Amino acid sequence: MEETKARNEYHKEWRINNKDKVDAIKKRFKENNPDKEKEYQRKYNKTEKAKEKMKRYYESEKGKANLEKKKLKRKENYQKNKDEINRKRREYCKRPEIRKKKSDDWKKWRENNLERAKEITNNAKKRYEAKCKKLTFEHYGKKCACCGESIQEFLTIDHINGGGTKHRKKIGRKIYVWLFKNNFPEGFQTLCFNCNWGKHINGGICPHKQK
Ligand SMILES: [Zn+2]
Ligand SMILES: [Zn+2]
Repeated sequence: MEETKARNEYHKEWRINNKDKVDAIKKRFKENNPDKEKEYQRKYNKTEKAKEKMKRYYESEKGKANLEKKKLKRKENYQKNKDEINRKRREYCKRPEIRKKKSDDWKKWRENNLERAKEITNNAKKRYEAKCKKLTFEHYGKKCACCGESIQEFLTIDHINGGGTKHRKKIGRKIYVWLFKNNFPEGFQTLCFNCNWGKHINGGICPHKQK
């Protein structure tokens, strides 16, 4: 026991007095074992000591400046390789284990931030529905197939061969989402509300067409 202690003391002192040699050995090890070194680094970064050191560094002037530089570099890199980075990110998010983790994290966060979570979900829903609506009119045309009306607010989607009421009842009010999910099937057209209603109460033909 005493002997071990003495030996450890000796090694410690030797390391202090031969810093160059120690550094050279470390460097050689890093070069020869990049994977081990990475793993070691990862483990070390998770220790309290490393975290504390990192925190102190980024609170210093030098650290702050370096952080700004890093942020700028990351931004530049993102702008340069936007598509590639986004593609990789999407692929990464599709991995089952990542999806599960994200969903678990979200559920946990949601429990403590109910109001904010509701807002986020609603906003996402609205954005999705707006996207579906936009794509729908891009597909079926941005003007009424009967009278040519082209003001977006007047336009709706018509079931060419009728059955719209029944169909809407079946799929709910979200016709644009349904069309998008079903790859914009045939049998639909853009009509203005006037022509759509006129057609409906006139037995399937818009009064415009009867003149
Ligand atoms: Zn019309
Ligand atoms: Zn009409």
